[in-house]
Amino acid sequence: MRTSQYLLGTMKETPADAEVISHQLMLRAGMVRKVASGLYTWTPTGLRVLRKVEQVVREEMEKAGAIEVLMPMVQPADLWEESGRWHDYGPELLRIKDRHNRDFVLGPTHEEVISELVRKEINSYKQLPLNLFQIQTKFRDEIRPRFGVMRSREFIMKDAYSFHTTQESLEDTYKTMFDAYCNIFNRLGLDFRPVIADTGSIGGNMSHEFHVLASSGEDDIAFSDSSDYAANVELAEAVAIADEPLAATQAMEKIATPEAKTIKALVEQFDINIESTVKTLIVHAADTTAKDTKAPANAPAKLVALIIRGDHELNEIKAAKHSAVASPLVFASDEEIRAAVGAGPGSLGPVNLTMPVIIDRAVASMSDFAAGANEEGFHFFGINWNRDVALPEVADLRNVRAGDASPDGKGTLNIARGIEVGHIFQLGTKYSEAMKAGVLNEDGKNQSLIMGCYGIGVSRIVAAAIEQNNDANGIIWPTAMAPYQVCILPMNMHKSARVQEVAEKLYAELKAAGVEVLFDDRKERPGVMFADMELIGIPHTIVIGERNLDEQAVEYKNRRSGEKETLKIADVLARVQ
Ligand code: ATP
Ligand code: MG
Ligand code: MG
Ligand code: MG
Repeated sequence: MRTSQYLLGTMKETPADAEVISHQLMLRAGMVRKVASGLYTWTPTGLRVLRKVEQVVREEMEKAGAIEVLMPMVQPADLWEESGRWHDYGPELLRIKDRHNRDFVLGPTHEEVISELVRKEINSYKQLPLNLFQIQTKFRDEIRPRFGVMRSREFIMKDAYSFHTTQESLEDTYKTMFDAYCNIFNRLGLDFRPVIADTGSIGGNMSHEFHVLASSGEDDIAFSDSSDYAANVELAEAVAIADEPLAATQAMEKIATPEAKTIKALVEQFDINIESTVKTLIVHAADTTAKDTKAPANAPAKLVALIIRGDHELNEIKAAKHSAVASPLVFASDEEIRAAVGAGPGSLGPVNLTMPVIIDRAVASMSDFAAGANEEGFHFFGINWNRDVALPEVADLRNVRAGDASPDGKGTLNIARGIEVGHIFQLGTKYSEAMKAGVLNEDGKNQSLIMGCYGIGVSRIVAAAIEQNNDANGIIWPTAMAPYQVCILPMNMHKSARVQEVAEKLYAELKAAGVEVLFDDRKERPGVMFADMELIGIPHTIVIGERNLDEQAVEYKNRRSGEKETLKIADVLARVQ
């Protein structure tokens, strides 16, 4: 590509409204342009990078046996009614009407549409297991879109859904996807950690997130310095597990945050006890909305919420107590809570149980609560009481702090910030039951399909990679993501026929060899050309100047190491391949 015929769009100044380095550099390097809050145009350089990521993802998914499909972004409300999420999803779901006044949504995820496909196409266990994926635009009406494409409203996701008749088969595919994700992030040259993730949205099933380590990340990751152990601190820091029946207050003592103390006081006030059958107590900062409104680490929490997810029986007991106590206590149904605080994968999520909510000041309703929360920035803790749910992976996580020995008995724990770039989940039968997606099993009986789902934030990866790979001069692309591998910078080409001739010849030769080359044929000063190419982050620079041509040589510069060498023109191709 010749820069004179390209849309380069580089900028010298750092845009004022871009807070994180990747957002600044994506604007300055001419990769994206903002159209409206959370909506971006990918300009040519950015699009090339995005396509690279897509391609690596596609290749590894196919290698792992997944099959590509493409579903519509606009989805009929009927399907969401069937799954229950038309009511449950909360304000991140953008709802629209067509000319006939029929309801639709802009898909934030595709469990409903894929279940609709599979229940029609698959009728026998013999057609399973099946893993279908797509790379497609999603829309989530994020409460606070920010950091450019890192948290946008419209974004590209790779989402895959697998279907099984046995849990073992699901676990097989889950493992295969786990490995495929590691391959993807390794190929993309990212420093990442798979971490045990909160399963709060769907219950006790297995879930892992993949985090790119970067200071601008929105999650805290606890990982061992000498084993593979890693967990989302959101989960880890606040998890307490009891082998024996455990009083809520005891578990609270293990969590030394001011919020937990407030919760503890509240729990004591209302004398909430866990019955002997309750095996697991998880306290976690629960919700996407909460994360979106999380105050800086040192800011005092202004509002503390306690969501108790128990069973009806338990809640009825508490409800009876509540009626006798004048307090800032709100009892709300699942639906009200979800409508107020939002839900979805990784958030508060669908639960079948009634959840009372306690907060540290009086509010009349859940929507008041959500409005206050959104304005003020707050910490949001939930308690998840699951009966008979074993979570061995988190069983030893108590009171996790940096420098602690790790939960698996190996090494010490580090805590780092992470950007969630992938999330895999064993869904079970939640959607297939609701949507009656079943097959005949080996015994000739109809059975609900067992599902897994596997997401990757394709567009977020582009930003996450830049967070990890930059210097004062701009982006330093990992090879697999670079928009071009080589740039040719001819010095004063418009004054030197010899420079022009060599540059044109080298450009043609590299292109013929299949190398992606950006040929800077603009009438610009060398300083401007260098600055632009460093900013865009092209791995290899070839400088052609009169000075070296007598020796049939050019200057080579490596973007990452900064090293320069003089190369014979004949050796350039081998050096950059
Ligand atoms: P987050 O916790 O960052 O809000 P999520 O848990 O809601 O993400 P998932 O439902 O797990 O997201 O979706 C799968 C992947 O899609 C995420 O791991 C992330 O990489 C990406 N993703 C989610 N929301 C956005 C967004 N608003 N902008 C860009 N990428 C996103
Ligand atoms: Mg989210
Ligand atoms: Mg997630
Ligand atoms: Mg998440």
